[in-house]
Amino acid sequence: MSRSLAIIGCGTAGLAAALLLERAGHKVTLVERFGEPQPLGSGLILQPSGLAVLDALGLAAPLIAAGSRIDRLFGLNADTGSVVLDVRYAALERERFGVGIHRAALFEALFAAVQKRPVAIETGIEVGDVETDSGGKVWLITASDRRVGPFDLAVDASGTRSPLLGHAAAPAARVPLSYGALWANVPLGGAGFDRHALEQRYRRASVMVGVLPIGRHAGESEPQAALFWSLKADALDAWRNAGLAAWKAEVERAWPATAPLLAEIVDPEQLTFASYRHQTLPQPFGRRLAFIGDAAHSTSPQLGQGANMALLDAYALAVALDQAADLDGALRRYAQLRRWHVRLYQAASRMFTPFYQSDSAVLPLIRDRVVPPLARLPGIDRMLALLVSGLIGDPLRRLGLKAPAIAGESDRPALAGEGAER
Ligand SMILES: Cc1cc2nc3c(=O)[nH]c(=O)nc-3n(C[C@H](O)[C@H](O)[C@H](O)COP(=O)(O)OP(=O)(O)OC[C@H]3O[C@@H](n4cnc5c(N)ncnc54)[C@H](O)[C@@H]3O)c2cc1C
Repeated sequence: MSRSLAIIGCGTAGLAAALLLERAGHKVTLVERFGEPQPLGSGLILQPSGLAVLDALGLAAPLIAAGSRIDRLFGLNADTGSVVLDVRYAALERERFGVGIHRAALFEALFAAVQKRPVAIETGIEVGDVETDSGGKVWLITASDRRVGPFDLAVDASGTRSPLLGHAAAPAARVPLSYGALWANVPLGGAGFDRHALEQRYRRASVMVGVLPIGRHAGESEPQAALFWSLKADALDAWRNAGLAAWKAEVERAWPATAPLLAEIVDPEQLTFASYRHQTLPQPFGRRLAFIGDAAHSTSPQLGQGANMALLDAYALAVALDQAADLDGALRRYAQLRRWHVRLYQAASRMFTPFYQSDSAVLPLIRDRVVPPLARLPGIDRMLALLVSGLIGDPLRRLGLKAPAIAGESDRPALAGEGAER
């Protein structure tokens, strides 16, 4: 049955939902607070889970071509040189890989696809609240108190700071996260970085520097990398006051090879500070309201799943609306389709984050001693690869999706074996 749907937010979740729901025959209005929808942040990893949704939208192949194929997540202790993170997608039976991508490339691919479809895009509208009328229709209430609607259903894709969380069937569970990160995109250059790995260096859990190859975006002549540096939110002013040179010296101490990348940063404005929230809605819906993406569940990016989970949510909502006879049933079905995957990844992220970003002295010691031998145990390497791929809990089968059978941009031979991953 065709319904009128309002989607709040032009991020990954909102744009993917607009495409999937319009394709399913619904009348979609996309509402965004910015006058000009725009990508936020620098780069991220598309995992096999998210790529499966993008493939269903016909967008995986161009994004794989634009991005940088990621085969390995690799981290060293900056002081001892010992390996503290080594996850290889090759541990999976089928050929799987991540794709490091410029956020703008992901945003533009989704936004261009939406613009080709009959989706109404209303920009410059900040939603502050929603209201249901006596006829069971939902209205958006803007920050300037204007009513927009009515709609059969509102989809909240407005991110982790959603103003609508109070309308969820149960309150969000929150765990404070003191660490965020500074991010910048820089040319990867010829310096000795693996073009197919996310590489990180750690000092305890309080210092982390990472380099993620993200391929090329429009107009860039050389492949780019997202460079990131852990920073506590309450240390941001001190970081600004200390100046760029002091910061660069600290990063170089942790990882001398970053010097050519740091040389590209000449103005603090090139760096964006991102703060994180660990927040989960136990029931990602309210009356005539579905929460998807970071509005439903957000966390630190340690496991690199957020955008991928947002894509899966959008797909699950489209499946649920298709399968259920009424809206209440569809909302329950949507929650059910995503429940275990979301719970598992929120729990895993909550568990792992303090080992990599915290003030703890004990947790990084455990990490450095336990993770390397553990990761070598038979089966554990595969579990870790499944975890970072976003495939634990088998979210694709539940949604009737398949990981795309597309070779990534790589000169490496395809891996043998076509066994199932379960
Ligand atoms: C530094 C960093 C690195 C990350 N790395 C990864 C990674 O490697 N892999 C990964 O999968 N994920 C990663 N993530 C997480 C990922 O970015 C998020 O999970 C994902 O962007 C969530 O998408 P979303 O569409 O739900 O929300 P958002 O991207 O936050 O989009 C929300 C949209 O809603 C709009 N909006 C907000 N409020 C309103 C309002 N009141 N009215 C109207 N519009 C509104 C916003 O302007 C925005 O356009 C990272 C996140 C950060 C911060």
